[in-house]
Amino acid sequence: MNNHSFPELREGVRQVVTAFDSRYWQEVDEARAFPEKFVTALTQAGWLAGLIPEEYGGAGLSLTQASVVMEEINRAGGNSGACHGQMYVMGCIVRHGTDQQKQDLLPRIARGEIRMQSMAVTEPSTGSDTTKLKTTAVRKGDRYRINGQKVWTSRLQHSDYMLLLARTTPLAEVKKKSEGLSVFLVDLREAVGKTITVRPIRNMVNHETNEIFIDNLEVPVENRIGEEGRGLKYILDGLNAERILIAAECIGDGYWFTEKASAYAKQRVVFDRPIGQNQGIQFPIARAFVNVEAASLMRYRACELFDAGIHCGAEANMSKLLAADASWEAANVCLQTHGGFGFASEYDIERKFRETRLYQVAPISTNMILSYLGEHVLGMPRSY
Ligand SMILES: Cc1cc2nc3c(=O)[nH]c(=O)nc-3n(C[C@H](O)[C@H](O)[C@H](O)COP(=O)(O)OP(=O)(O)OC[C@H]3O[C@@H](n4cnc5c(N)ncnc54)[C@H](O)[C@@H]3O)c2cc1C
Repeated sequence: MNNHSFPELREGVRQVVTAFDSRYWQEVDEARAFPEKFVTALTQAGWLAGLIPEEYGGAGLSLTQASVVMEEINRAGGNSGACHGQMYVMGCIVRHGTDQQKQDLLPRIARGEIRMQSMAVTEPSTGSDTTKLKTTAVRKGDRYRINGQKVWTSRLQHSDYMLLLARTTPLAEVKKKSEGLSVFLVDLREAVGKTITVRPIRNMVNHETNEIFIDNLEVPVENRIGEEGRGLKYILDGLNAERILIAAECIGDGYWFTEKASAYAKQRVVFDRPIGQNQGIQFPIARAFVNVEAASLMRYRACELFDAGIHCGAEANMSKLLAADASWEAANVCLQTHGGFGFASEYDIERKFRETRLYQVAPISTNMILSYLGEHVLGMPRSY
């Protein structure tokens, strides 16, 4: 597989996303607005329901195909960060939900009637140390009462439902610290403004993300996903898919940057020749392209394993790390190639530069990936 595989799929996605041109992205970026028309168009075309099984009205794509969808969005200059949650958050319901939850939610998500693109895991005081999170869910009869605080809860203002991870058994009472956490489906339309207070976080990219304060939020038992106490496992089960899809977005960015840089290097004439004739300009672009291609191969390998139902924790993490590094290198090279013009918003480079930088940190930071590989693949001592 390579960057031309699945030509019809690529063409289908491109038909939708190329309608959203450079001007559109500059306007939403400047206004710090949610790219609502873009997300609606992708939803209506069915692309964001790619991973919903056909029996529930989705497209039933493989993860390989879904990764190509995300790659194409970013390769065309778009920002999947506004919509990737809609592609993968519902995976928790597909894998661990009851029949009732699946029948109720998945067809409506597939038809675009509801959005479930928000997932609240990270907390301000505990960060990457997820098992220490402090939000609690206490069962009283057939309801849970949830209290706590989350940070960086993205796309919440444009979601109807959110997944939330909370502790149901105190840390001191569990055998393993990964136990005693549970996942809940929260109906945001009922809760926001009442038991959930939302404080938007202005940030470096145009990414709708929030701090949330949860005060006596009541969730019926039937909105718990899977068994009580096994929530972290359910969230982790979905993370490989999330990492691979985000790797694909970085790969799309990487192609966008290298295509933009090489096109400019061919036409920009300084000292009476195209700047791309200088090896000091040409070689960094070529090297960045090599790294994007290599990351893409690791992405396809991770997808292949995932689609075959084989554990792919190492490959998913490696593809995310390689792709995030490759897109960041390509971003720097593209900016450098454009000289001063790279800083002008109308070239889109400074926006894409900011957007792709995020993936060194979220949804998992580079150090956490290296730590996983060091411990689980190379057998070195656990570092935290
Ligand atoms: C724009 C944006 C959107 C996000 N969206 C969501 C979302 O929708 N839902 C959600 O739940 N979260 C979301 N996040 C949170 C994101 O997943 C976290 O920011 C990320 O996992 C890092 O956690 P932290 O920010 O708490 O950093 P910390 O855990 O405080 O870490 C800070 C730095 O120290 C490093 N570090 C920490 N411990 C170690 C160690 N033992 N060894 C080496 N290095 C270490 C980390 O790698 C990191 O670089 C989002 C974040 C951003 C910025």
